Amino acid sequence: MNQNKTYYGDSRLNYFCAFCGGPAETEDHVPSRCFLDKPYPPNLPVIPCCHKCNHDFSIDEEYVSCLIDCMKSHTADPSLIQRGKTRETLLHSPKLQERIASQIKEFGEYYLFDYEKERFKNIVRKLAFGHLAFENDYLTWNSSFLFSIWLIPEMTESQYATFFKPYTGDLLPEVNSHSLEHILLPDNADIVMQFAAPWVIVQEGRYAYCVSPDSNKVKFVIADYLAVEVSINQ
Ligand SMILES: [Zn+2]
Repeated sequence: MNQNKTYYGDSRLNYFCAFCGGPAETEDHVPSRCFLDKPYPPNLPVIPCCHKCNHDFSIDEEYVSCLIDCMKSHTADPSLIQRGKTRETLLHSPKLQERIASQIKEFGEYYLFDYEKERFKNIVRKLAFGHLAFENDYLTWNSSFLFSIWLIPEMTESQYATFFKPYTGDLLPEVNSHSLEHILLPDNADIVMQFAAPWVIVQEGRYAYCVSPDSNKVKFVIADYLAVEVSINQ
């Protein structure tokens, strides 16, 4: 990894893997490019990590990314998958294709996905902790967390409105952190000093995230389909 690169406002954090606290040996995209389509947007968020975390995540990310596209299409049959990237992956990985196919349970017009919870949770953790590190310079390795998931087409109007509301807070994020660049200051500071942390759209229709200024919560949307909110126990 490039030690001269600026990943964080606080450059002392550059020496640690953002996910386990081990030595930084390489870097990783958060979100991984498997959640995005080509052409990739410029300046994707990147943070330092160790080789092991980088390797372990990539296997689970491929699974989660394909799972979401299969959920969207209600099938693991590559010829029926809308997204080109996942269609190619499933065609080249018959084992992954069979695995996801075996996890789809059809009940008339309903589908249930008996997905691999630990792999899914591993990627939820990577995305949440990675966004916290990149946005707020907040590295947390041992914190436990809870998360909720929704399928966007099945959300009620009020769930949708609540989920997409930006986080607010009364403490500004770290000096020089990325989130400080897009924090919204109130129009009238005399009333209440509340700051809004708007959604960061990484790629329209593919990935967006929002990190609370106090680093307690992170939410993200993948493929305009899966909505996840993570609460960190600090
Ligand atoms: Zn690591």
